[in-house]
Amino acid sequence: MQFDVITLFPDMFSAITNEGVVARGIKKSLLSIDTWQLREFSQNKYRNVDDKPYGGGAGMVMQVMPIRSCIKEIRKKSPKTQVIYLSPQGQKLTHSLALQLSKLDSLTLLCGRYEGVDERVIEQDVDMEVSIGDYVISGGELAAMVLIDSVSRLLPDVLGNQDSLNDSFANGLLDYPHYTRPEVVDGQKVPDVLLSGHQANIDAFREAQALKNTQKKRQDLLDK
Ligand code: SAM
Repeated sequence: MQFDVITLFPDMFSAITNEGVVARGIKKSLLSIDTWQLREFSQNKYRNVDDKPYGGGAGMVMQVMPIRSCIKEIRKKSPKTQVIYLSPQGQKLTHSLALQLSKLDSLTLLCGRYEGVDERVIEQDVDMEVSIGDYVISGGELAAMVLIDSVSRLLPDVLGNQDSLNDSFANGLLDYPHYTRPEVVDGQKVPDVLLSGHQANIDAFREAQALKNTQKKRQDLLDK
């Protein structure tokens, strides 16, 4: 899968391209991330890509033409790319949206800064706005990294033998609790069934625990 990211801060993406699951996916050629420095599409010698808002008010607004030119360039190599603007006003990123996006060949992620982008970009150049939650962060880069990570781990073979099928939300429930060595810590014991070696009983225990966990922490998932 191809991710093209439009950003003023391409270096931030080294956080996911150098280490972890996404980096491993890149190494295995299962996905690829190209960053595009928006300033290279600026229309003036100062490399500005933002200007004051019409109507006045605080903050700056990202201009249409640098973004439009950058998307045009990306479309030369990925004509069918879907353009996502990371925005607090967008559709909430969920497991099911991540799964839907993981089926696509190519995504272009537009990272906003300042007050965001000129509305005409959203009207004409963006296919979907995606939010990582009902709060505002200072730029779209962290949101884009969250999206890339959540989508990448759903791509076939990216996780290798680590199984994402039981992860929270994958089957509508939260994950079951996990334990590792030692068997007893400060009097806290690992449930006996997990030491029994009886796989059917372990599976049944985990299923019941996942349900209990969901009831306790996220009853809303069961109400749906
Ligand atoms: N004025 C905008 C508003 O209130 O809707 C917020 C602008 S925010 C300071 C700058 C950029 O951060 C946005 O353009 C967007 O790309 C990104 N951003 C902020 N919060 C986000 C969220 N919850 N999800 C995704 N992106 C977000």
